[in-house]
Amino acid sequence: MRARCKQCENHALHLRDVCEEHIDDLESWSAEVLEDVRANGAHDKNLSGVEWAALDLTDINLEFAILIRANLRECVLRGANISRAGLSNADLTNADMTNAILQMINARRLKASGACLDGARLNGATLANADLSGASLINSELVGTNLRGANLREANLSGAQLLRASFDGSDRTDAILDDGEVDRANENSLSSKKSPPGLGSVPPSQMDWPDPPEDDATS
Ligand SMILES: [Zn+2]
Repeated sequence: MRARCKQCENHALHLRDVCEEHIDDLESWSAEVLEDVRANGAHDKNLSGVEWAALDLTDINLEFAILIRANLRECVLRGANISRAGLSNADLTNADMTNAILQMINARRLKASGACLDGARLNGATLANADLSGASLINSELVGTNLRGANLREANLSGAQLLRASFDGSDRTDAILDDGEVDRANENSLSSKKSPPGLGSVPPSQMDWPDPPEDDATS
């Protein structure tokens, strides 16, 4: 079972015995875990609240990382693999995620205003209530993506693949996208609850607070 913070009931951070609320060396921890992730990957590591703003993280592998409330503002994440990561409430404002792989991420209430997601793969991602205002999603893949309640004001979705994406309650004021495509995507998302082909279902560990299974082989 995942370790708990020594001062409260929250989950402990990767490489620390305290949670994000009780860490007193956030800056050095953030640098330390970045080095560890670059060397060993990020699978199931609790990096909640990490401070990596404005770093060049081109091609980094953050697959399955727990990045809730992480500060990734203005990061360069071109070509990064962030699939299946937990990114609820994370801050990716103005980040460059060109051609990044973000399939099946759980990113409710993600802040990604002004971000570049051109050519990014977001199939099966949960972006409910995310702020994508002014974001560029040109030629991105949004197959089966949940964009319910998302802020898409002035976002550019030209050439995006929207099959079975859901847009209920989203704000698309001045967004660049084909409304006919949105209607068809919404209809298909209602008539089909299936995941996009080849993606399988969202891993239960990433559904909300990603609590890994008790028999986790890494512990
Ligand atoms: Zn704590």
